[in-house]
Amino acid sequence: MSSEMQEESGQVPERVLTIGDQAVNPGEKAMVRLNVGRLPSGTRIFVHLHVFRSEVPGPVILVLGGVHGDEINGIEIVRRTIEQKLYENLKCGTVIAIPLLNVYGFINFSRDVPDGKDVNRSFPGSLRGSLASRVARLLTKNVLPLVDMVVDFHTGGAARYNYPHIRSTRGDELSFELAKYFNPPFIMCKPVISRSLRKVAKTKNMPILVFEGGESLRLDGFSINKGIEGLTRLLAIQQMVDRPVAPPKRTMLIEKSSWVRASESGIFIWNKSSGAFVEKGEPVGMIYDPKGARSVPVLVNRTGYIIGHNNASVVNQGDALFNIGYRYKEISYADTD
Ligand SMILES: [Zn+2]
Repeated sequence: MSSEMQEESGQVPERVLTIGDQAVNPGEKAMVRLNVGRLPSGTRIFVHLHVFRSEVPGPVILVLGGVHGDEINGIEIVRRTIEQKLYENLKCGTVIAIPLLNVYGFINFSRDVPDGKDVNRSFPGSLRGSLASRVARLLTKNVLPLVDMVVDFHTGGAARYNYPHIRSTRGDELSFELAKYFNPPFIMCKPVISRSLRKVAKTKNMPILVFEGGESLRLDGFSINKGIEGLTRLLAIQQMVDRPVAPPKRTMLIEKSSWVRASESGIFIWNKSSGAFVEKGEPVGMIYDPKGARSVPVLVNRTGYIIGHNNASVVNQGDALFNIGYRYKEISYADTD
């Protein structure tokens, strides 16, 4: 739609977005590179932003991966949506897609930046702060003021597999409604964590969906597909993209969860994994003494859904093995029509 047509139709013409020092006009597509520092070798490090704009006004959505550098499924979800041209020819609004925020973690196969600090515990960040704080600030200063909503893609930690789910902030009704559009297998409403991106979004009253799927440093096709499907649904329901939307599948709201921990140390082999419904007292794995003398079953202590499990082959007493969502209810789809 031309700006003249927009004026005739009474719509306000879409404004120019300026990211860093680069202006992106309505109807344009651009790659913006923001410098976030240097490696000790002198190599400059950039964060790459793919900006897609419709001429028609609409929401500005940030699609973000790699806040944690070893959470490759999230990076891959954002990369594939760009490769699949999901954001080309948007019907309205703007998508800013950042596949990889924490380049430092990515090149070190690490969740964090090289000094061990977590970018997602360093928001809103500071220009003179730690490296993690500087990475956080790049987003807070250059991108968040421009956007209306954030979808942030993560995975479980080392060897901890998360069944695909959306985390939304407890009490944030708008984010919860948007999470239903995403139609993940599970939604968890969590309290905000200090200095996290979710906390910044809450302060700004900006809806945010945090997707979790799979584990760090391991590609998981199921989680990647769920992430892409959910994001596509979210954008299609908001009439930003013209893509077919599959009939919704069941989403369970997990209101409370707790971990089943290892009672013994040894070699851990599970026989039920994430996504399964389990009953209190049910054996879901075994821990074997490597000398061959003893073995103990792992029994679940509550009835519910396994929303995460540990893929570590060797565990210590007290290690978290299965995350059981024990207070749950099915979400009605009438709400999303
Ligand atoms: Zn993460």
